[in-house]
Amino acid sequence: MFRDLYSELDSRKRTKIKSARLGSNRSIAHNNSMSRKPDEKLANSENAEEISPANGNTTFLDQTLRPNSWDEYIGQTNIKENLKILLEAARQRNHPAEHLLFYGPPGLGKTTLANLIAKETRSQLKSTSGPAIEKVGDLASILTNLSAGDILFIDEIHRLNKTIEEVLYPAMESGSLDIIIGKGPSARTIQLELPPFTLIAATTRIAMLSAPLRSRFSGGVHKLEFYTDEEIEKIIERSAKILGVKIDDEAKTEIAKRSRSTPRTANYLLKRGRDLAQVKEQGLTNEIVKEALQMLNIDELGLNAEDRMMLQVIEDKFNGGPVGLNTLAAALSEEQATIEDVYEPYLLKLGLIERTPRGRTTTEKAREHLKKN
Ligand code: ADP
Repeated sequence: MFRDLYSELDSRKRTKIKSARLGSNRSIAHNNSMSRKPDEKLANSENAEEISPANGNTTFLDQTLRPNSWDEYIGQTNIKENLKILLEAARQRNHPAEHLLFYGPPGLGKTTLANLIAKETRSQLKSTSGPAIEKVGDLASILTNLSAGDILFIDEIHRLNKTIEEVLYPAMESGSLDIIIGKGPSARTIQLELPPFTLIAATTRIAMLSAPLRSRFSGGVHKLEFYTDEEIEKIIERSAKILGVKIDDEAKTEIAKRSRSTPRTANYLLKRGRDLAQVKEQGLTNEIVKEALQMLNIDELGLNAEDRMMLQVIEDKFNGGPVGLNTLAAALSEEQATIEDVYEPYLLKLGLIERTPRGRTTTEKAREHLKKN
């Protein structure tokens, strides 16, 4: 029953290999989140290997563009200030920071924050995700393989199964792990002491987390906000430098306006603009950006064809709503989760839809926008 738990991991994702004592573990990666992001639809090249003109090597661009220090992490000022205090206090007490939960729409920088905290505290980051932890044994082996001071990052924690969640409670609260070994009359419970560690979790669906789980994030539950256009412009400027792309101010403003107030989308649009400029052997001007955005079917509010389709369906098929999530998902042939995580937050932010107890409705602003596009 004891076997090397990491044998199936790509060697790139392994740093230190330890043989595990409990269960199977295909669910952990080091400094590398293995989970797929819900907004792959919007920025599906983000995690792909690409050639970076900056260094000519094949690199993971998502990693390359990821901020490495607090200064490079633009915006989210309030969260940053709180985290700095929390980390400094923990450092002075010579103890790992308390457990943290980050929530908000995809692409706003939750994983980046976890990576930054690990860098700042010089801790080893071990990453996994809710759906990757299938059995209690998976979680047990992850926890028992942590070293003192490690940071465990669980992405999409809302997808953690309830039985597994309960194993996490004592681990988070008192650093102990209760496991039942064997079955029937010979079953016995053993309690393992865990090394002190920090759990950092991320979710796009805070409402799906149980109250007991939420309350165990003693270091705080932080909501990431959409970015302002100015903040997105700064992010584009930094990314363009890393990619070795010359971008003029107008083009930067244009990309920022259409980035859904989301850094990942901004980086994605920048890269697509760069591609077109490269193929056309031109600089990244406003005209090139506009052409690239048109080819991607992204309008002046940053909406793509799927967003507009959702508005159109509510408007045409359901007379502007209200329409329930179930019905809407069926009409769009989409997953409910995709509607809730990917489309809705930005449409709500722009005031194009409203959520009422009876379902979603489109607003006057949405009707005007649809007429124009
Ligand atoms: P999430 O985990 O919330 O889905 P990520 O942390 O993976 O989002 O962020 C996606 C990408 O956006 C990162 O790789 C990084 O390049 C960029 N990014 C996110 N937040 C920031 C920020 N505050 N400043 C600069 N770049 C950011």
